Amino acid sequence: MQELYDMMQTKFGISQKVLTYCLQKEEQIKEQFQKADEITEYNQLKVLSAMQKNKLSDIHFAATTGYGYNDLGRDVLENIYADVFCAQSALVRPQLISGTHALTVALAGNLRPGDEILSPVGIPYDTLQGVIGIRKEKGSLREYGITYRQVDLLPEDKFDFDSIEKAITKKTKLVTIQRSKGYQWRTSFSIAQIKELIEFIKSIKQDIICMVDNCYGEFVEMKEPIEVGADLAVGSLIKNPGGGLAPIGGYIVGKEEFVENAAYRLTAPGLGKEVGATLGITSSLIQGLFMAPQVVNASIKTAIFTSKLFEGIGFSVLPKSNETRADIVQLIQMESAENVIAFCQGIQKGAPVDSYVTPEPWDMPGYDCPVIMAAGAFVQGSSIELSADAPIKPPYSVYMQGGLSWHHGKIGVMIGLQTMVEKGLIQL
Ligand SMILES: *Cc1c(COP(=O)(O)O)cnc(C)c1O
Repeated sequence: MQELYDMMQTKFGISQKVLTYCLQKEEQIKEQFQKADEITEYNQLKVLSAMQKNKLSDIHFAATTGYGYNDLGRDVLENIYADVFCAQSALVRPQLISGTHALTVALAGNLRPGDEILSPVGIPYDTLQGVIGIRKEKGSLREYGITYRQVDLLPEDKFDFDSIEKAITKKTKLVTIQRSKGYQWRTSFSIAQIKELIEFIKSIKQDIICMVDNCYGEFVEMKEPIEVGADLAVGSLIKNPGGGLAPIGGYIVGKEEFVENAAYRLTAPGLGKEVGATLGITSSLIQGLFMAPQVVNASIKTAIFTSKLFEGIGFSVLPKSNETRADIVQLIQMESAENVIAFCQGIQKGAPVDSYVTPEPWDMPGYDCPVIMAAGAFVQGSSIELSADAPIKPPYSVYMQGGLSWHHGKIGVMIGLQTMVEKGLIQL
């Protein structure tokens, strides 16, 4: 091991003090790592078995162009996704350019003027606010006569069942449930909690479409939303299920009818899933899915380790290092702008790409304060790769996620900590 420690110290500037502290903390999270490994093994077999069942073959990796009729690889990819997520049908496309776009297509395809959307879990993810029209944007669903209602969570992030019941009316067509905390200080919902919520909603109105925003949640547990009653689950391929290899894409899985409605919106009425060339990226999407359980495992381990390190220093973290996880996001309340900036700059320093640039807070459009982002990723904006971002305002929360490999995640976070120590911001 001495060679390893020498490498950490000479090539990455980790001091003896930081090294000793980190190794000691790593020793204390073995049990959590073992639990993560068990889930990963199960999910790896789930993915493998779906690939075998669908007789995946190298012929499926061929590129199609133009309209993309009879794209065998695309069809097999979608059948594999459907099986992995226990869904009747799947739409998995490079033409779905992001998670937000996939969610937009799922919503717009299944809603009509006069329908109402209900979020029973508080305000949805930032970009979705514009899509729905909670925040005024051109082309929002609101402009098409689709209304929105929201029920906030109770203290301790409990569902407000009474208010949810009252909020469901004849107009309520679709309920959107965000699994991950996104950019809020709340717990992410476990599959068991999502099950309870969906069962409650269906007991009030059977035909409501329950859609889960599954971003950051895939392969963190053994089950996925469709298995507990969701009608649709939607996510991004530059997060968990793309395994770091997908260069673009989104997915929508669920009931045949609802996925088809989404497909008519993505392409055109009458065309649906039958068109859409894959231009040669199907192999990356399929191989990415194959790798996804492992990559999620690396992200989870990186998150647990980070949580443990900062708990030890006395910062508030969410989740705590020994808490069950429902997504790959780790929150740390850094208590000052200097801490946030130093940590994010350290994460950037440890990246495989753009390690020599220094991120600074900037006034990003759509935010009410400066934001700092650390991301040295192979795929632009990919947050299954180790990344951290933070709005520079109290309580100075950093949102950290990803890590293509645990050993990279580990050194990345250690450099983050080292940067804070070097600046005299924290004492170990
Ligand atoms: C990332 C994310 C989205 C949007 O995905 P993009 O690919 O960034 O558009 C939506 N919801 C949640 C919870 C997310 O984490």
